[in-house]
Amino acid sequence: MPDPDRTSTSAPSASAPSASALSASTLSADRLRQARDLTAQAGLDALLVSPGADLQYLTGYHAAPLERLTCLVLPALGEPFLLVPALEEPVAQASPAAGLGLEIVSWQETQDPYAIAAERLPARAGVGVDNRMWAEKVIAFQAALPGGRQTLAGPVLSELRMRKSPAEIAALRAAGAAIDRVHARMAEWLRVGRTEREVGRDIAAAIIAEGHVKVDFVIVGSGPNGASPHHELSDRVLEAGDPVVVDIGGTTAAGYCSDSTRCYALGEPPAEFRRLYEVLLRAQRAQTEAVRPGITAEELDAVGREIITEAGFGPRFLHRTGHGIGLETHEEPYIVAGSARPLEPGMAFSVEPGIYLAGRYGARIEDIVVCTPEGGERLNLTERELTVLPG
Ligand code: ZN
Ligand code: ZN
Repeated sequence: MPDPDRTSTSAPSASAPSASALSASTLSADRLRQARDLTAQAGLDALLVSPGADLQYLTGYHAAPLERLTCLVLPALGEPFLLVPALEEPVAQASPAAGLGLEIVSWQETQDPYAIAAERLPARAGVGVDNRMWAEKVIAFQAALPGGRQTLAGPVLSELRMRKSPAEIAALRAAGAAIDRVHARMAEWLRVGRTEREVGRDIAAAIIAEGHVKVDFVIVGSGPNGASPHHELSDRVLEAGDPVVVDIGGTTAAGYCSDSTRCYALGEPPAEFRRLYEVLLRAQRAQTEAVRPGITAEELDAVGREIITEAGFGPRFLHRTGHGIGLETHEEPYIVAGSARPLEPGMAFSVEPGIYLAGRYGARIEDIVVCTPEGGERLNLTERELTVLPG
């Protein structure tokens, strides 16, 4: 989906491991070591990582974020440990985290888990807390670590997470193929007389049926609703001639996300929409072809923005070009003006320019693209031309 206001891979081969066949023990132990080194380089004493994508990335433990503290404590010096509520210890022991040789420390209902973590850290410890940690936990850690410094762990962990391994790319490729299968079936559901919500329900069911375990979002923006990039679903009834923006994504069993946008029309759309769409398609193609190691995020953004601006729609391209994707739909690197970050092999991100005419209609075309040593590999391969369905 678009991201308007937030801020070395290898070719596929028969021998590439599937995501489900990954050995979490080898992969994640490396990740823990790398994260520990980066923590030391950042001048921090430890990272504190609560349930979420960071914890999943580092340990393979997909824990529910709840009020009781679950937290990976990763000291720059010394051994990491996973602090878990006693009642969740069996779940943690059954997770890939236990296979990493990671010490699992369980705490009883009457104990203070923050004090247990603090006892094992230096006095006045400088810690990086994961970017999604609940405020109540951040504040409890502040109280348990008096005189210390709290900062975000995101800048440390995103350095690892944004450079995908071949196995992660394979998992994203499988997610891309799954969402492509949903787009390929759109004619089954998108028809004049149905509401966006009815269509959305069918799409959500297909997202699961085609290979995801979770529906992350379903945007069906018909007619004027297509001009709102983050429109989701409404009770608007689809009309003949409507352009429709369909932006959908889910999470696969391997934990990786899909995200792809295609545009449809119910019968022949207005002539001006056709013109707008041709401009957008040219921009999106140019951008996907421009992906290569060394191009910066802002240069890639400019490739499409210049084409759209020359055609007179510059101010109507309301958001940045794209966002990184992996265990989360939106993560580093962001493809945005002002980011001089050079793209590197292994980075995976969306290329999703859009043009939005308020009150009338809008269009967006979105592929996930992986930067490889040779250029960009698109992970979404359905037709990018406007698909005209029977009206
Ligand atoms: Zn999207
Ligand atoms: Zn997106």
